[in-house]
Amino acid sequence: MGKKILIVGGGLAGTIVANGLCRQLGSQLKKGDLGITMLGTTDQHMYQPGLLYLPFGRIRESELFRDQLKVLDRRVVFHVDPATNIDVEKEEVTTESGRTHGYDYLVIATGSRIMPQSIPGMAEGANWFYDLDGARKMREALNAFEGGKIIVNANAPHKCPVAPLEITFMLHDYLKDRGLLENSEITYTYPIGRLHALEPVAEWTGPEFERLNIKSETFFNTKEVDPKAKTITSEEGSTLPYDLLVTIPPHQGAEVIVNSDLGAGGWVPTNTKTLHREGSENVFVVGDTTNIPISKAGSTAHFEADTLIDNLVSLLTEGQMARDYDGKVFCFVETGMKTGTYVWFNYTTPPNPGPPSQMVHWSKLAYNKLYWLSAKGLL
Ligand SMILES: Cc1cc2nc3c(=O)[nH]c(=O)nc-3n(C[C@H](O)[C@H](O)[C@H](O)COP(=O)(O)OP(=O)(O)OC[C@H]3O[C@@H](n4cnc5c(N)ncnc54)[C@H](O)[C@@H]3O)c2cc1C
Repeated sequence: MGKKILIVGGGLAGTIVANGLCRQLGSQLKKGDLGITMLGTTDQHMYQPGLLYLPFGRIRESELFRDQLKVLDRRVVFHVDPATNIDVEKEEVTTESGRTHGYDYLVIATGSRIMPQSIPGMAEGANWFYDLDGARKMREALNAFEGGKIIVNANAPHKCPVAPLEITFMLHDYLKDRGLLENSEITYTYPIGRLHALEPVAEWTGPEFERLNIKSETFFNTKEVDPKAKTITSEEGSTLPYDLLVTIPPHQGAEVIVNSDLGAGGWVPTNTKTLHREGSENVFVVGDTTNIPISKAGSTAHFEADTLIDNLVSLLTEGQMARDYDGKVFCFVETGMKTGTYVWFNYTTPPNPGPPSQMVHWSKLAYNKLYWLSAKGLL
């Protein structure tokens, strides 16, 4: 009987791994020496970074979605049947429909989810753009906004490390374009003692905020939101009034990870280089769901997936791992509606954001279209 690779999660990381394995292991798949199965929650694949543009009417909803079967290599057996339990001792995954899948190698790629409900009042009082419903609601709120105090409130942990900055810069330009900047004020809050978790990015942000007259408050760990009084209060004791609250809600990993006792908060303890689940030889973890202390981002998921593909191919064909993940992350950063910059870094090289330029903004817009090639593993 052939080897079985089971991938739980059909988002970016799981999809790249599945497609990459098919490309490199075509003859094994053809002969029946290998089977690749994926479990997902939906038959639609969403381009999550595109949500950033939705509140501003800069992307159409239809551009965010493709059928997962069109993104996936046809040799992958795909089930819309979420995993309900992952038993790494028995090497079995149970699903919502009651089926049980065994595996020789398991890839956990269940991503992360937003938890606005974990902070009192946040779900009722705040807007966000981290899921489709939130981004739609924020679009309505922005359309109705006539000026006033906007708070951009970042909570940790969250995916896409630069999205809180991007939305702040884009809001600035949006207000300017609508002639609302004069009677508005933007305040950005961040939970630690600087403007960004990555120190060079924090240093770069300070002068940019000053230039654009964007206010900020650090050491702001959100305690509660009062939707009636329109205030947000931090654990540190600061209360800020708002007319429009835009939050980046705190995240957790998937429920199945918590329910299967695979990691507190849904984050799976993962070897930073080999991407093994700590304590398992045949279980790998990719994307947001790892507990690796680097940015949770699509590019992280992509570079981890590339490493895992090479390692799984080597394990199956040569019985050994090929290479380590080096911690590489690359993110475009929108610095307004017409300019952008980028950061790249890894475990040993810190990021070094450059001055905003139109060229980088256009590159990000181009990538928004090229994402689908990336998910197919062609880019
Ligand atoms: C607004 C926004 C802007 C962003 N901008 C950027 C950016 O500019 N650059 C960048 O690099 N990244 C960006 N990201 C982050 C990026 O989208 C994620 O980091 C990336 O999608 C992570 O990939 P993943 O495969 O780990 O998780 P996901 O792509 O979220 O996929 C996880 C999948 O697992 C599925 N799943 C969950 N539980 C189960 C279960 N029990 N059984 C089966 N399947 C399950 C989920 O339904 C989902 O399909 C952004 C994200 C958002 C929301």
